[in-house]
Amino acid sequence: MSKKILLLTLCCLFLSCVTTGPGGKQSFILIPESQEIAIGKGMAKQVEETEKILDDLIWQNYLNEVGQKIVAVSDRNNITFHFKVIDSDQINAFAAPGGYIYFYTGLLKAMDNEAELAAVMAHEISHVVSRHGIKRMQAALGTQIAYQLVFGSEEASDAVNAAIGVGMGLTFAGYSRSNERESDNFGMIYMVKAGYNPNGAVTMFQKLAELGGSGQSKYEQLVSSHPDTQERISKAKTRVIQMQPLSKNLTFGSAIYSKMKARLK
Ligand SMILES: [Zn+2]
Repeated sequence: MSKKILLLTLCCLFLSCVTTGPGGKQSFILIPESQEIAIGKGMAKQVEETEKILDDLIWQNYLNEVGQKIVAVSDRNNITFHFKVIDSDQINAFAAPGGYIYFYTGLLKAMDNEAELAAVMAHEISHVVSRHGIKRMQAALGTQIAYQLVFGSEEASDAVNAAIGVGMGLTFAGYSRSNERESDNFGMIYMVKAGYNPNGAVTMFQKLAELGGSGQSKYEQLVSSHPDTQERISKAKTRVIQMQPLSKNLTFGSAIYSKMKARLK
């Protein structure tokens, strides 16, 4: 075992420094990207076995379009992201490791423009860019499974299965406050880069504060566990001030969104 720990440490030092945010932010990530994607895929499969995917191709394509626009300007556009709408009145959205992102119709109905959608989208994409899920998993899995994931032996599929189990219980249970603040921060940078007016984040966070408590979910508690709502709103307002002068080309996308929202009724 001590040999394995030594190998893990060496691996960590030499192989695993990756970009996890704007401005070249780096983190030590032990679990290889291919394994992260396999874990995320397994988690997505479990989600889709229990949740009802919205039967509307136009909405699924639209969500994907907005998502891919933000991924393209993010610090993790080398992997394939997957976006899906879940048909449920829950006010929620969440991201699994490896780029599997889900939005509930309950949340989509609460939004009034594409910039608000982009704000939550960019927040969720930022959890994936920052590897928040995989970092928590790395800490919780224990050396044996982490070792198998890192070195990808024949035992790897068992290790991936174990990680999926841990991930379902852990990653979706909610991120830490600092993870949430980081995703809010990176998310606003990405949404502006993608051409959206960052005031969409301010109005979205205000809406989530008003809706507080009504969105019970087994996944990320978008409404309740995110940073204290008032602090979150004031931080978003401060970021908008720091981003001045805003380009006149930034959009709210109100017309397209009201058309899409009408389809949900
Ligand atoms: Zn979050």
